[in-house]
Amino acid sequence: MNCPYCGCHDSKVIDSRNANEGIRRRRQCLSCSSRFTTYERLQPASLFVIKKDERREEFSQHKLLTGIRKACEKRPLPTGTVDKLADDIEAELYHLGKAEIPSTVIGDMVMEWLKSLDYIAYIRFASVYREFTDITALKQEVDTLLNAEAKASQPTSQLPLLTDDKIEKLARSHRSRK
Ligand SMILES: [Zn+2]
Repeated sequence: MNCPYCGCHDSKVIDSRNANEGIRRRRQCLSCSSRFTTYERLQPASLFVIKKDERREEFSQHKLLTGIRKACEKRPLPTGTVDKLADDIEAELYHLGKAEIPSTVIGDMVMEWLKSLDYIAYIRFASVYREFTDITALKQEVDTLLNAEAKASQPTSQLPLLTDDKIEKLARSHRSRK
């Protein structure tokens, strides 16, 4: 692990503790003395994502996190919400116990969660993921949200629990759409 400040590859561990099924290590660079943190986590059996063009790509937690983070940028969400969301979705994906998962299932999962978290983040994510090509498609999505909101109460700031049957439903609805 290179020092993020000077690039030196020698550091010493000054503190280490368990964190979210992994180990968090506080390190100090032996060259410039800067301190930084690394996380070590168990890599579960590899999971592949089936892209829209049928190509397979190894699942990337980093990609998932980047996508969600972009959508949630500058939204009034409590610190840690985005990381927790990405962690939870990743956990659900591995929990499915499949070797391959269509990218659309992951996208739908993210959409489902964002929808109950923050409408603006949801629309941002949807506009990239669903590849809205014109304002009409975007308007339709917003209208759907407004209708749903008129019917139901405001979304809570609590993360929804994605239950097993909910995931199965997502997976099924994806299969039937194909
Ligand atoms: Zn350094």
